[in-house]
Amino acid sequence: MNHPEHTDRPTWTDRTVDVLVVGAGPAGLALAARVARAGAGRVEVLEREEEPGGTPRHLHHGGFGSPPLPWLHGPEYARRAVAEAVHAGAALRTGVTATGWAGPLTLETTSPSGLERITARAVVLATGARERPRAARLIPGTRPAGVLTTGELHRSLHPYAPHPIGRRAVLIGAEPVARHAARTLRRAGTHVAAMLTEHPRATPLPGIPLLTRTTVTELHGRGRLSGVAVRHQDGRTGVIACDTVVFTGDWIPEHDLARRGGIPLAPGTRGPAVDAAYRTHTPGVFAVGNALHGIEPAATAAAEGNAAALPLLAHLSGTPWPTPGPPLQVHPPLSWATPTHLTTPTPRGSLLLRTAEPLTAPHLEIHQDTRLLWHHRPWTRLTPTHSLRLPTHWTTRVNPNGGPVTLTIRGRA
Ligand SMILES: Cc1cc2nc3c(=O)[nH]c(=O)nc-3n(C[C@H](O)[C@H](O)[C@H](O)COP(=O)(O)OP(=O)(O)OC[C@H]3O[C@@H](n4cnc5c(N)ncnc54)[C@H](O)[C@@H]3O)c2cc1C
Repeated sequence: MNHPEHTDRPTWTDRTVDVLVVGAGPAGLALAARVARAGAGRVEVLEREEEPGGTPRHLHHGGFGSPPLPWLHGPEYARRAVAEAVHAGAALRTGVTATGWAGPLTLETTSPSGLERITARAVVLATGARERPRAARLIPGTRPAGVLTTGELHRSLHPYAPHPIGRRAVLIGAEPVARHAARTLRRAGTHVAAMLTEHPRATPLPGIPLLTRTTVTELHGRGRLSGVAVRHQDGRTGVIACDTVVFTGDWIPEHDLARRGGIPLAPGTRGPAVDAAYRTHTPGVFAVGNALHGIEPAATAAAEGNAAALPLLAHLSGTPWPTPGPPLQVHPPLSWATPTHLTTPTPRGSLLLRTAEPLTAPHLEIHQDTRLLWHHRPWTRLTPTHSLRLPTHWTTRVNPNGGPVTLTIRGRA
């Protein structure tokens, strides 16, 4: 008996470009603009959403950009970043999702117009960060309507997709992103009954009760949320009535594509491990922006995109991909630092650092083996919601063949 030829195999279109950027947010757009302007050949930016601009596109509040320029609202900031990349000659393709790898520098993509395999001389992962869904936080309860992440909140309030949010909300988290979410809820006419955080301190918002050292233990309600059960560190418990709860603050890099490509992740950030030139362990693959470390201001993400442009251009012109230098390791209460490797020579720039606990009068020491490379007393109090930026001048003292470089910090709680 003759078997018919198998005909439903997917049809791939194969193409090549010079630089392929995944993610049209501030980081990817800044990098694309800079390398396109420098004449890097065909620079293509893929964006899975229908419009480019990244997260700021959904954030209708001020606070984007960097002084001395005036603060912009998110959508205007996004529009300017898009215009700059297009003007520089980068090709922006929206509705295109990078789904996997067909080779070390070949990405598989899907879009309404079909499947493609795009091979590039350099690939940039600028995929941003995502919030962990509620299930990941292991909070018991049914799955009633009215349980959102801040990302879902902002997307559902987008002017092109209006959506009633609720009458009375509780915010889980009290860092800057949570405060933006509280303002957003109020603008949408929702009463914010409380903000709660497990941390001992946070900046309150006028008119909203702030519960510190408090965690959610259960979500109540069938069909629609009716309340959240909470527990204070001292053992007190209670239920706050609400029909909406917004979880915020648990941001991790959008690292699925990196993982699928076998690109090692950094244990602290869960983003791709990179050196100070934003080079991953895979030759030709760079990573920038929130894909590296979770939520930072848009200007920080854009600055990383800008800073990665020079090493990327050097790679295109044949500079060999170095073996990663000594790892940069942090000790508690520090939670992460990026870059994660110190390949020499380290380009001038900065290093970002986060603590897991608030620290007053911090004193930081950087060692390699038993050698003190640098120590520093930042004037500021450190909090888990803001990164500390350090200079990199001390990296000239790193021995490329030495052991890990360690960051330790002491301070008062
Ligand atoms: C609620 C909230 C409030 C904020 N407020 C401020 C503020 O006031 N001021 C400020 O400076 N910053 C603010 N930020 C932070 C700012 O939005 C981010 O720092 C910035 O957007 C990070 O840029 P990025 O390019 O790294 O990532 P993103 O802007 O997230 O862009 C990443 C892009 O990659 C795309 N992508 C991901 N995976 C794929 C894939 N596989 N294929 C194709 N495309 C993909 C995504 O769709 C996305 O568009 C806020 C963030 C949030 C969540």
